[in-house]
Amino acid sequence: MNNISKYITLTIVLLCLAGRITAQELRPEVFSMLNLDYPGLEKVKALHQAGNDAEAATALLEYYRGRTAVKHPEVDLSKVTISKQDQQWADDGLEHTFFVHKGYQPSYNYGKDINWQYWPVQDNELRWQLHRHKWFSPMGKAYRVSGDEKYAKEWVHQYMDWIIKNPLAEMNKSEYELISSGEVKGDAENVRFAWRPLEVSNRLQDQTNQFLYFVDSPHFTPEFLTEFLVNYHKHALHILANYSAQGNHLLFEAQRIIYAGAFFPEYKEATAWRKSGIDILNRQINVQVYDDGGQFELDPHYHLAAINIFCKALYMADANGFRGEFPQSYLDRIEKMILFYANICFPDYTNPCFSDAKLGDKPAELKNYKDWTTLFPQNEQIRYFATEGKEGKQPQNLSNAFKASGFFTFRNSWQNDATVMVVKAGPKGEWHCQPDNGTFEFWFNGKNLFPDSGAYVYAGDDEVMKLRNWFRQTMVHNTLTLDDRTLETTESVTKYWNGTGDVQALVTENPGYTGLTHRRTVFFVDQTYFVLVDEAYGDATGEVNLHYQLAEGKVNLDPKSMTVVTDYAGNSNVKLQCFGEKPLKMKEEEGWRSTAYRQRVERTALSFNTAKDAKHAARFITVIYPYADRADMPALSAKFNGKQFAASAVDVEVKVNGKKRVLKIDF
Ligand code: MG
Repeated sequence: MNNISKYITLTIVLLCLAGRITAQELRPEVFSMLNLDYPGLEKVKALHQAGNDAEAATALLEYYRGRTAVKHPEVDLSKVTISKQDQQWADDGLEHTFFVHKGYQPSYNYGKDINWQYWPVQDNELRWQLHRHKWFSPMGKAYRVSGDEKYAKEWVHQYMDWIIKNPLAEMNKSEYELISSGEVKGDAENVRFAWRPLEVSNRLQDQTNQFLYFVDSPHFTPEFLTEFLVNYHKHALHILANYSAQGNHLLFEAQRIIYAGAFFPEYKEATAWRKSGIDILNRQINVQVYDDGGQFELDPHYHLAAINIFCKALYMADANGFRGEFPQSYLDRIEKMILFYANICFPDYTNPCFSDAKLGDKPAELKNYKDWTTLFPQNEQIRYFATEGKEGKQPQNLSNAFKASGFFTFRNSWQNDATVMVVKAGPKGEWHCQPDNGTFEFWFNGKNLFPDSGAYVYAGDDEVMKLRNWFRQTMVHNTLTLDDRTLETTESVTKYWNGTGDVQALVTENPGYTGLTHRRTVFFVDQTYFVLVDEAYGDATGEVNLHYQLAEGKVNLDPKSMTVVTDYAGNSNVKLQCFGEKPLKMKEEEGWRSTAYRQRVERTALSFNTAKDAKHAARFITVIYPYADRADMPALSAKFNGKQFAASAVDVEVKVNGKKRVLKIDF
């Protein structure tokens, strides 16, 4: 029998037993995992050496109940509170209705005899995230707040039930990889979900909280303690042997192995765990973060998650006295990441939903900034955002370019009535990045007028992937395509940037398709309106499409004048008019905006289209003019100066209410 068949057999045997075995057993191997010379474990060591493991386990539990030297940065048992939502998740958890994913509400019930393989919708996230046990820590809080033993009893039961029904067989790395790749089905397939390193690391982290919440309960028996510590040890070893190759998963895993090493210094390898995590973070902060502070997935929310991972490691270090293990350069880079984030966000603290980004919300972002001020107390800008401008100083810059990451912000103020356009035009990007080069979001006077389509879902079966792929298409972004096809290449080059004065401009170029390069010039004129010059050149032939996606609500399209006028309530509206060098055709397109995971709203989307031959560039000028008052909606016109595409110059003429303006740059 190979290891996988052994594993399947073992699983079947264990599943048969699962109905009967729920009690915990003393696991004597725990004593070989711990450094019994660790200060405070003298009694445990003596009892174990005398062959009395039962009493040694009791002494070990006493030690943990009285332990004060190790601090947890997120748990203060003297002031535990619980939110309404956590209370709900805790109570639902008692009934085996498990909160797994915000995108799947109401939560599913996993049965009286818990079926950890229940998978009602074939979205990988739903199956993976079940194994993060998101209701466990809420149960811990509910226990601490109420003192009701039902939470502790049920947590211990579910913790053991999970161990029994989700075994990790001994297997070599290639067997594990085979399972991870999804090629193995049936019972063994479960390992792919239950033991994915990201989920394992999540449990490693959250079980430190749960340990503190429940350790004083009579249901937390000496036998259970040994089960817990053996299981926890297995988790740590699994991470060390199976770190993700790269990306945010690796960062999460590294930060959480630091938690494991710091929170359980009694394990023999605890110092090595901590060092492994710190080494990875120190290395990866230079690999995954560009010099301008942008994270390489080019996704504002994963960027934020990366900041918080790097910071969490520091909070744990500060709580337990090992800050010195991080160099100053590590802190400097986090600080840059925070300022990068502040610069690409809108005045309501939301971020553009480029790539797979979530929108974020103000209370959560304010809390982030507040936490960051503790790490960077001298940074006046971070303090400014932490206090909504009541303290600190707003950034001296308005517009800002992050050229390595390819994020460019045009901004005329830091206040709510600001005009802000954030353009994404960078390198290829990693997993969460979408092929959307040249796209933008545009905020005016309190409203996002051109929000990104967002992500909707991540990954799953064909049906789920179809949904995901719709939102990833280049054509559902505010950018240019050839025959509506998704970009083949995403490698934007910045040709020009000027972020100050009355005519600010960006010129960015992406060789998107074989035979077709898209050069987009963005002019921010008088810090009031935008002129986009889109030029598609190369020997490709076909139809060139310039797409725009509006905020949901009423939008009027006029295909004769190639004009789009929004009719939103309130005082943030926009007129967009497109002027082609050759005749244009306006097409209304399918438009959606994902507001959260598996939530979307319909919205107006359209494109301006023109035929392209092998010899000539297809060229468009779009004027985007926002206004607070309808009476200020201007008459617009625009044309190219010069008959041909020029490799190193852009020259157009725009008229606003008849007033002529020449916008010309050489680069
Ligand atoms: Mg997008």
